[in-house]
Amino acid sequence: MERAVLIGLITPEVTQEQAYEYLNELAFLAKTAGAKPIRNFTQRLEKPDNNTFIGKGKMGEIKLYIEEHSIDAIIFDDDLTPSQIRNIEKLYEGKCKILDRSNLILDIFAKRAKTAQARTQVELAQYQYILPRLTRMWTHLERQKGGIGMRGPGETQIETDRQIIRNKIALLKKKLVKIDKQSVTRRKRREQLIRVALIGYTNAGKSTLMNKLAKSEVFAENKLFATLDTTVRKIVIENLPFLLTDTVGFIRKLPHQLVESFKSTLDEVREADFLIHLVDIANPNFEDHIDVVNKTITEIGVKDKPVFLVFNKIDAYTFLAKDDDDLTPKTKKNLSLDDLKQTWMAKMEGNPIFISALNKTHFDDFKKELYSRIKTLHAKIYPYNSFLY
Ligand code: GDP
Ligand code: MG
Repeated sequence: MERAVLIGLITPEVTQEQAYEYLNELAFLAKTAGAKPIRNFTQRLEKPDNNTFIGKGKMGEIKLYIEEHSIDAIIFDDDLTPSQIRNIEKLYEGKCKILDRSNLILDIFAKRAKTAQARTQVELAQYQYILPRLTRMWTHLERQKGGIGMRGPGETQIETDRQIIRNKIALLKKKLVKIDKQSVTRRKRREQLIRVALIGYTNAGKSTLMNKLAKSEVFAENKLFATLDTTVRKIVIENLPFLLTDTVGFIRKLPHQLVESFKSTLDEVREADFLIHLVDIANPNFEDHIDVVNKTITEIGVKDKPVFLVFNKIDAYTFLAKDDDDLTPKTKKNLSLDDLKQTWMAKMEGNPIFISALNKTHFDDFKKELYSRIKTLHAKIYPYNSFLY
C-alpha cells in the first residue's frame, strides 16, 4: 500500500476544527483509493501560497519527513494550480507523487465505474482534468533544455499531446450523447409512476436504505462512492407502487469536471418527482454536508423539487451528556437528539424523521410519511388514475 501524508490549510475561512474534519475526510478518500494515510500536516496562512500552496519552510519540513518515513505520496486537500504542481515537484525532485483531492476522487470514480456510461463519463472528466496540467509530465524535458530556447521539441510535444487529448474529449462527448439518447428511451418507458430519487452526501446510507426498502442487493459499504451508477427499483408501500433511484453521493469540492460529466447520470435526479435527502446525523459535519448537497443540486439545475429530509444513523449518534446543573452553554458537541430537534429542525415542514436504516429503527414512521407524500403527489400528477391507490 502506498504511504501518504495529507496537507491542509487553516485560513480565515477555515477554522482549525474544520481543517481537521476536512483532513479526516481526505484520509477516508485516500483509504478508499487504496493508500495508507500516515500523518497530517496543517499550516495557518492568510491564503494558499501562490508558488507552493503552503509555505516553503513547511515544505522543507515535510520533505525531511518524507525521506525519513519513506512516504510515496503527498496529498493536498485543495486542488493545486499547474504552476504549484510544477514548483512542488521541482522541490521534491520526484521523491514522491504529488496529488490533490480531485486526483483521489477521479481515481475512485475510475475504479468504481461499471457501465459504459459511467466509464465514459469518468474518462471524459479525467482528460478534462489533465488538459490544463499537461506541462507537469514534461518537466524533465524542460530541465534538459535549460534556461534558453524553451520553444524546443518539448513544447511541440506538449502541443501535440494537447491536441490528442482535445480530440479524445470531443470523441467521448459524442459517445455520451449517443448513450444518453438510449437512456432517455429507457426512461420514457417507466411512465405513470411517481419517481423518487435518493440523494445525500457520500456514505450517508443511501444504498442501505434502498436495500431495506426494496429488499434488494445494491452494493453498500463503508467507503466513499461505493455505487457510481444509478440503480432503479420498483417499490410498493401499502398498495402504492413507485420508482426509487439510488444515486451517486455528493462530496465537498467535487471536481467540477465530474459534476459536468455526471449531468446525464443526474438526469435521474432531475427527472424525479421528488427527492429523499438522506443525512448521516452521526457525522459531526452533517450540517455542512446538507449545504454541499443543496448547493450541488442547485448547480445541476434541480430546484423547486419537493425534498424529504431524513436523518439516518441515529444508532451511531453520540454526544457528551451534560449534568442538569451544568450551566455552561450548550455546544454542538453536547446536544442530544432531542436537543437537536429543538434547533433549526423545529422549523422544518412536518416532523423531522430520524431513522437507522441499518437497524430499521423508526422505519414504519418513515414509510408512513413517505407513503403520504407520494400519495399526495400521485393525486396531483396522475389525477385520472389516483383512485387506484
Ligand atoms: P451511501 O454512500 O450513501 O450509499 O452509503 P451506504 O449505504 O453505502 O452506507 C455507508 C456505510 O454506512 C455502510 O457501512 C453502512 O453499513 C453504514 N450505514 C448505513 N446506514 C446506517 C445506519 O443507520 N447506522 C449505522 N451505524 N451505519 C449505517
Ligand atoms: Mg451508495
